[in-house]
Amino acid sequence: MKRISLLGATGSVGTSTLDLVGRNPDRFCIEVLTAGKDWVRLAELAIAHRAKLAVIADEGSLAALQEALAHTDIAVAAGPAALVEAARRPADLVLAAIVGAAGLPPTLAALEAGIAVALANKEALVCAGGLMTATAARTGAALLPVDSEHNAIFQVLGAPETVAHITLTASGGPFRTLPLAEMARVTPAQAVKHPTWSMGAKISVDSATLMNKGLELIEAYHLFRVRPDQLRVLIHPQSLVHGLVEYIDGSVLAQLGPADMRVPIAHALAWPERIATPVTRLDLAAAGRLDFEAADRERFPALAIAEAALAAGGCRPCVLNAANEVAVAAFLEGRIGFLDIAIVVAETLDAVPAHCPQSLADVEAMDGAARRMAHSFAAHRAQA
Ligand code: NDP
Repeated sequence: MKRISLLGATGSVGTSTLDLVGRNPDRFCIEVLTAGKDWVRLAELAIAHRAKLAVIADEGSLAALQEALAHTDIAVAAGPAALVEAARRPADLVLAAIVGAAGLPPTLAALEAGIAVALANKEALVCAGGLMTATAARTGAALLPVDSEHNAIFQVLGAPETVAHITLTASGGPFRTLPLAEMARVTPAQAVKHPTWSMGAKISVDSATLMNKGLELIEAYHLFRVRPDQLRVLIHPQSLVHGLVEYIDGSVLAQLGPADMRVPIAHALAWPERIATPVTRLDLAAAGRLDFEAADRERFPALAIAEAALAAGGCRPCVLNAANEVAVAAFLEGRIGFLDIAIVVAETLDAVPAHCPQSLADVEAMDGAARRMAHSFAAHRAQA
């Protein structure tokens, strides 16, 4: 029986994870479930999955959550410090599925406690990849990729000295073929309508700008310990080939599967074993064709900005991520346009001084400075 602590239980990845946990009651049990604000859903899930502890990040929701769970023996806590405590609690696996840099402190706490982490929360690794991988190496905690592309690479990756290139595929998002002039007018509703994956709002917008693929390059850099120039992006609209590893002898190994997050989540949950999933099986004859094309960095400048941040290293990915979170939130709230997202990120990267974060406190200070700067650039664009 694997005890699972699930951070971000009410989200898209959280829901898929609980679907798999519920189908495998002989293999998995739930230790902790957490949410940001949605205490109603958290209480329902905690009861349904017999969690030992339910934690809500929003302290204002504590009383309501307590009341909802008063007739149970489920412990309740609230606030960012309680999230960190919950992640440290003994468990066999922490599945990190909080969205954004808010997921960093609890995810790092799990690694510090030597608990294996299945990581969906890519922003944590983008902000503090060096710190997280060093912590995992020190405590011996496994860091298992849940992101479909990284999980694909994890499944086909051989000895580092034999690897020539790693390629992450990208669907290209809802605006893959849209002319640049029309992108200025796209709405949040259009941007979150992903053609192949069903995901939370923030990652859906990131997929539409291709920032998601940039964040994933940084994630891959930390997970697979390759040089930035060994990492590539390939647009693949069908989202059936998730990642490819080219070896020094010219062989290319790829992982394929349906565009359903339950496949990589199941792999990470069961690793090093495998479990059955209820997903619709990949039918290549029905798919008919697999298309591939180069990414267009002129129409999708966020990808080039992220690649430059990866090449520059140090705190640049942390600043990039913070600015992107602020810009995406401003876009989703209708304050700035779609094309403004990359502009706000680029302006913030230019404005925030570079240094290399050494500790969680350094990362949080850098993240805060970048957010303040990005807010002011976003406000400026909102008035323009
Ligand atoms: P969702 O927006 O669907 O869910 C986010 C989860 O995080 C919710 O449980 C939410 O709680 C919680 N949360 C939000 N803000 C905070 C906070 N400040 N503190 C604590 N908890 C918070 O996101 P997704 O499931 O789509 O994505 C989660 C992560 O996984 C992201 O990093 C994303 O990039 C990554 N990922 C997602 C994929 C997908 O298919 N969705 C694929 C690959 C990676 P509440 O419901 O209360 O707001």
